[in-house]
Amino acid sequence: MNSSVNTPEQHADTPLVHPVHKAASTVLVVGSVALDSVETPFGRADEVLGGSGTYFASSASHFAPVQVVGVVGSDYPVDKLAPLEKRGVDLAGLERAEGTSFRWRGRYRHDLNSAETLETHLGVFSHFAPKIPEQFRKAPFVFLANIDPRLQLQVLDQVDSPKLVACDTMNFWIESRRPELIELLGRVDLITLNDGEVRQLTEKANLVHAARWILDRGPKHVIIKKGEHGAFMFTRESVFFAPAYPLEQVFDPTGAGDSFAGGFIGHLASTNDLSDLSMRRAVVVGSAMGSFAVEKFSNTRLLEIGHDDIERRVQEFRQLVAFDSPLNT
Ligand code: AMP
Repeated sequence: MNSSVNTPEQHADTPLVHPVHKAASTVLVVGSVALDSVETPFGRADEVLGGSGTYFASSASHFAPVQVVGVVGSDYPVDKLAPLEKRGVDLAGLERAEGTSFRWRGRYRHDLNSAETLETHLGVFSHFAPKIPEQFRKAPFVFLANIDPRLQLQVLDQVDSPKLVACDTMNFWIESRRPELIELLGRVDLITLNDGEVRQLTEKANLVHAARWILDRGPKHVIIKKGEHGAFMFTRESVFFAPAYPLEQVFDPTGAGDSFAGGFIGHLASTNDLSDLSMRRAVVVGSAMGSFAVEKFSNTRLLEIGHDDIERRVQEFRQLVAFDSPLNT
């Protein structure tokens, strides 16, 4: 009987992630570009670069060309966005509107898995209608980051048959825009939610039942993020689970979910492979990117790391879950 398994040692030289290359598809993200003020048990940061679109783009730009659509107010310090442009992120769809920028203030206590929102200031977001520039409409991968579901629907009316549409949301919108969110489920291929959000949306305590509830409404994939406890990917046929990377210190969890999504979609766009195997790899790449995001405030760490750091961490994920079956020996 052949007792060999694919151990990480045997495959340590096989690259699992790909840097941005010519064959990578473009990713369009529509999301918030914010000023965040965050308190964690380890310190605080005021008015730093934040927003679902920003975190996503910082992460996905390691794998594929990224186009951003969003809005900032006339008070936004746009020089803060220069590092993103330096990474090749196309900000041609970022509108500058008269008024104040979107601001989010949050606090994490010792349970770093859940943010307490202290203030959400919509500012120019309250009158925003996304306009997708002509040159962005053909993007094969579209990520509707956490914004008003009414705006997420408006984006779908403007794009030209993407290969994959994924979306995210949060408690704020589940409470205030439930019917629009349910409509959105019928128009996306994949949704990412954390376990609290999935229970709130479906009103089901059991995550398997909750995932099925969502699959019944349209998406073919449901990803449930459980913070430091990893992430599940559900389809009709299968369940996949990846742990979270056991970091010694989580400094600021803000943006982990969007960075996860950036790594996940970025990986798919870089390989153009939507097979089940590739989707599973994408969950691990997403988990690796989420783990980098939380090592420093804002998107600082995401912009410091290079391809080798990402590859090393993804290989460490393989090591984390590799085991041989005792039945094989
Ligand atoms: P995450 O920690 O990945 O769930 O996302 C954190 C980011 O979401 C922060 O940078 C916030 O600026 C942004 N955010 C918070 N609330 C909202 C909201 N209601 N709409 C859009 N973005 C938000």
